[in-house]
Amino acid sequence: MDENYHLDTLAVRAGQERSQFGEHSEALYLTSSFVFTSAAHAAARFSGAEEGMVYARFTNPTVDMLQKRLAALEGAERCVATASGMAAILATTMALLKAGDHIVASNGIFGATQQLFGGNILGKFGIETSLVAATDLDAYRAAVKPNTKLFFIETPSNPLTEVIDIAAVAEIAHAAGALLVVDNCFCTPVLQRPLEFGADLVIHSATKYLDGQGRVLGGAVCGSNALVEEVFKFLRTAGPTLSPFNAWVILKGLETLRLRMEAQSANALKLAQWLEAQPQVARVFYPGLASHPQHALAMRQQKSGGAIVSFEVKGDRKAAWRVIDSTRLLSITANLGDTKTTITHPASTTHGRITAEARAASGITEGLLRVAVGLEDIGDIEADLARGL
Ligand SMILES: *Cc1c(COP(=O)(O)O)cnc(C)c1O
Repeated sequence: MDENYHLDTLAVRAGQERSQFGEHSEALYLTSSFVFTSAAHAAARFSGAEEGMVYARFTNPTVDMLQKRLAALEGAERCVATASGMAAILATTMALLKAGDHIVASNGIFGATQQLFGGNILGKFGIETSLVAATDLDAYRAAVKPNTKLFFIETPSNPLTEVIDIAAVAEIAHAAGALLVVDNCFCTPVLQRPLEFGADLVIHSATKYLDGQGRVLGGAVCGSNALVEEVFKFLRTAGPTLSPFNAWVILKGLETLRLRMEAQSANALKLAQWLEAQPQVARVFYPGLASHPQHALAMRQQKSGGAIVSFEVKGDRKAAWRVIDSTRLLSITANLGDTKTTITHPASTTHGRITAEARAASGITEGLLRVAVGLEDIGDIEADLARGL
């Protein structure tokens, strides 16, 4: 597609390839394999001498359309889709690292990513990880070792919405001869395009905003041809591939991504401002607020503050749980990225398995609540929270 098209156009049309039937909507190719016209044709496809579909573990036209569309939105040369966001992170680390290598990661990264990097999985294979304070650039520099190969960050962080300077971390990573991988799940390419700030790869959990309607799991890795080819080779062999059905659902989600992100961000900003004015609220965490410590950086790096708002109620766990238990509209779930607003108490759910000391050190207090703002009327969302406050 003409690369001069704007994001809105790419979100609706990039990557589509029509069959001989001329279908208007993207076709869903529910097929695991593809047939060849002759033995020689099959051999050419398998050897790669001829480009084309072979087997859906690594080639499928519907998945291909999604990959091309997402690459266009991120401004990447290439994208490869995966079964989930975690599969994208697993594939990236397995493809690019080996035993003896070292990862530097920001300490606010997704819980399952921490489990994957920590002793649980990658640690077993001799890959070591250092977690550093997310916004402390000196801490990234100090964590570098001769065997550091990868920096991994997530910005804004969850649930405290700390904003990391992608360009500054990219410089530190590259000076150390390492790659920078950014998990762009919270912002999506509509609000933030990490490759423009020097990141080497972008990770997505398509399960969140890209689908945006809470229907399917999916993931993706976007970046240069050379790096994504390495991830593709891992996927082709190891198999945590995206199903064509899920790819089709996510393709449809992408068509409304910009509209949803803007509307949900606008709702989130209104909610953050409203929460700041509530006497029972001690503190609000939202990058779109002037009171946010990295507000200026957030407004340079992102198009809006995003759709995640966290806040601390005065009092302890009891006060926070009362807010949750008084809701009638909001969904009590740790998921996010849906058109339906969700509310969660991080200290007893997403961050419940880490020690109380580690929780306190990372600022996850007993009074903290996280709201992933959806598309409902903002007045209804505020009224639902006002009851418990
Ligand atoms: C949900 C999430 C993931 C993992 O994605 P799944 O699709 O659930 O595997 C990774 N990173 C972030 C920031 C997430 O929110």
